[in-house]
Amino acid sequence: MSIVKKPGAIANWYLPGIFAGMWFTLVTMIRNIFNQDKMITKNYPEDKYEYSPRFKGNHVLTVKKDGSLRCTACMLCATACPADCIKIKASEHENPAVEKYPISYEIDILRCVYCGYCEEACPVDAVRMGPEWQTPGLAGTNFSYDIQHLAYRAQLKGGVLSRVDDEERHKAGI
Ligand code: SF4
Ligand code: SF4
Repeated sequence: MSIVKKPGAIANWYLPGIFAGMWFTLVTMIRNIFNQDKMITKNYPEDKYEYSPRFKGNHVLTVKKDGSLRCTACMLCATACPADCIKIKASEHENPAVEKYPISYEIDILRCVYCGYCEEACPVDAVRMGPEWQTPGLAGTNFSYDIQHLAYRAQLKGGVLSRVDDEERHKAGI
């Protein structure tokens, strides 16, 4: 395809387009200064976007009523993870009613693709993805989330209770 330009046509002049763009920018800037509430962009980090509670953001390890981890170290989440970013070390629990528990549970969040497969695979609602989406950090170690961060970070206010309760399951004979 060839484009034929007529010599001297106004469409070939650059200056009208440049001035129109500068005028639009000026008008938008003045409008934003006097109507900051209606601005499309957010003044991050002072002004943060609130996603729906259904948003699949940062992971949470849920806890039981006594505050201990709900995770049974079954490895289903780690097996389902397509990014191979969940590492779990299991140990026997001193309570014979609890078969196993994780002595270490880590998610390399820089590898995570936030697919939600770990949450889907978990049979006891021990890992969930919540509405938090910020993952700041200055060093590589900040992006390897351990049990302390996943279950007991300050934002979780003491831990998120799992929906699967062993006592109720035993009573119901499940
Ligand atoms: S969200 Fe997906 S990639 Fe991230 S830890 Fe879970 S299964 Fe792995
Ligand atoms: S989080 Fe759930 S799926 Fe993953 S090891 Fe623990 S109990 Fe199993």
